[in-house]
Amino acid sequence: MTREIVNKIFNKLAEAEQPLPQSLEFYRRLLAIQAKVEPSMPAHLLSLTETEVSQHLRQGKPLLIWDNLALDWGEVLVLFEEVTSLIVEKLSPDSEEIEEPNQVATDQVSLEAMAKTWFEVGIPLSESPARDKEIKPLIAGTIYATLQPFLSAYSEKLLPRINQELWHRRYCPVCGGEADFAFLDKERGARWLLCSRCDAEWLFYRLGCPYCGNQNHHSLAYFSDDKGLYRLYVCEQCRRYLKSIDLRKTESEILLPLERILTLDMDRQAGEMGYKVGRNFAL
Ligand SMILES: [Zn+2]
Ligand SMILES: [Zn+2]
Repeated sequence: MTREIVNKIFNKLAEAEQPLPQSLEFYRRLLAIQAKVEPSMPAHLLSLTETEVSQHLRQGKPLLIWDNLALDWGEVLVLFEEVTSLIVEKLSPDSEEIEEPNQVATDQVSLEAMAKTWFEVGIPLSESPARDKEIKPLIAGTIYATLQPFLSAYSEKLLPRINQELWHRRYCPVCGGEADFAFLDKERGARWLLCSRCDAEWLFYRLGCPYCGNQNHHSLAYFSDDKGLYRLYVCEQCRRYLKSIDLRKTESEILLPLERILTLDMDRQAGEMGYKVGRNFAL
């Protein structure tokens, strides 16, 4: 997410009717904490050659792997502590739930280990090293909110180098994460996915479930709202859903990261219909 998008989101939230609903107020506070971080991307990622990038894409390998992130752990720990405090203040988790984040917030080694597990569990590949590890939702959400500005900053630099025609996979070409939102572009109505972790956008098939790979149109469907602006894609094979917006149906500027929160009612509806959230871990 660029600085420009972050500022536009702050402006939009400032113009909205106050007080903001709880979900948007939490998001605004979280974004303010995340926006203070100014990650610099390590030189070895900046110097990836065109050939190396294409090789990754052709082999289905995301550009970022845990060992090449080179995060500043002091900075990550400070952010993790702030996110934990915000969660305590706004979400009032019970003491048992918050015990683990509180403990991790005082211990950089635990945080590094936990963050690595979170990163690798979130990659939907069977060979992912941490695929069978368990990670509790609150700690996963806290790590997600902490690493998001770093992953997003890296993604901003790497995404322009990606040839979209070489990818079309179910997971993010930058970080390997799953999508949690989609959009149909204004030009052709092509479907793009939005990475739940780094906000990268990638071209995907119009028909097909990005979670289980199902391409059978008999078990795929979508519901739309009255204006046809939003779509809720559902898959009967894995029973997961994906929220989406059709950019051909609107003239106003759409801020995709904010749309995740503005469409929380779609998550509620999907849940009522018995569908599960698509992406693995987020708050
Ligand atoms: Zn990503
Ligand atoms: Zn599916």
